[in-house]
Amino acid sequence: MRLGTALVLSAPSGAGKTTLVKKLLKEFPNFGFSISCTTRTPRPNETDGKDYHFLTKQQFDEQRIQGKFAEWAAVHGNFYGTPLEPLQTLFGQGHDVLLDVDVQGAAQLRNTLPHASFVFIMPPSMKELERRLRSRGTDSDEDIAKRMHNASQEIACARWFDAVVLNDRLDKAYDELRSLYLAATCKTALNRNLIDHILLEDTLPSHS
Ligand code: ADP
Ligand code: 5GP
Repeated sequence: MRLGTALVLSAPSGAGKTTLVKKLLKEFPNFGFSISCTTRTPRPNETDGKDYHFLTKQQFDEQRIQGKFAEWAAVHGNFYGTPLEPLQTLFGQGHDVLLDVDVQGAAQLRNTLPHASFVFIMPPSMKELERRLRSRGTDSDEDIAKRMHNASQEIACARWFDAVVLNDRLDKAYDELRSLYLAATCKTALNRNLIDHILLEDTLPSHS
């Protein structure tokens, strides 16, 4: 009945975005997750086609040149992009869509997804961000240094997001995020059909 909404999440690496995304997808199974393409090497716990579509640089470039990405960006020395066609399919089927993109990707989607909500996940401090990156145990020292170096620039971009969720306590952060999602689904622009439907129902002949 209502149109699908898009929830676009950005955060510095290690802030807890993936953890929050997994909780949202578990609670709301009808949420479509936009599976990104990346040239990054898979982490041990990642599955191709589920967490990402892992591509070579050449495959990524081919898709980029063919206009197959809704947005794309170079992040921490690798390329990432949101495939356009699955996104259109999910919206066409009336799904809400969850997108996990960096701040450059979010800025591009601002121009193309008018009804999207942009949420920035904030770590409690730089020190805790580094601790989380290390405790995850998936990134090399060099990679962690690169991600920490980029974090302050990414955090500065939080200013133009619609909302900021501080991920200090996970349960509290999740509560805030799910509230933002539920509020987003109530936007008038997504519910015009509902208004027409109720009004039309009122004009139908009564059976009593
Ligand atoms: P991102 O996707 O933003 O890079 P992850 O979801 O992989 O970050 O989280 C990075 C690490 O921090 C993981 O080990 C995760 O379990 C942990 N983490 C996430 N949220 C919290 C939190 N609120 N408190 C403590 N640790 C957290
Ligand atoms: P990671 O390598 O830790 O999975 O992700 C690194 C960064 O790339 C994160 O900020 C993540 O949000 C971002 N990212 C993941 N997928 C996409 C995408 O499709 N497009 C863009 N622009 N960034 C993405």
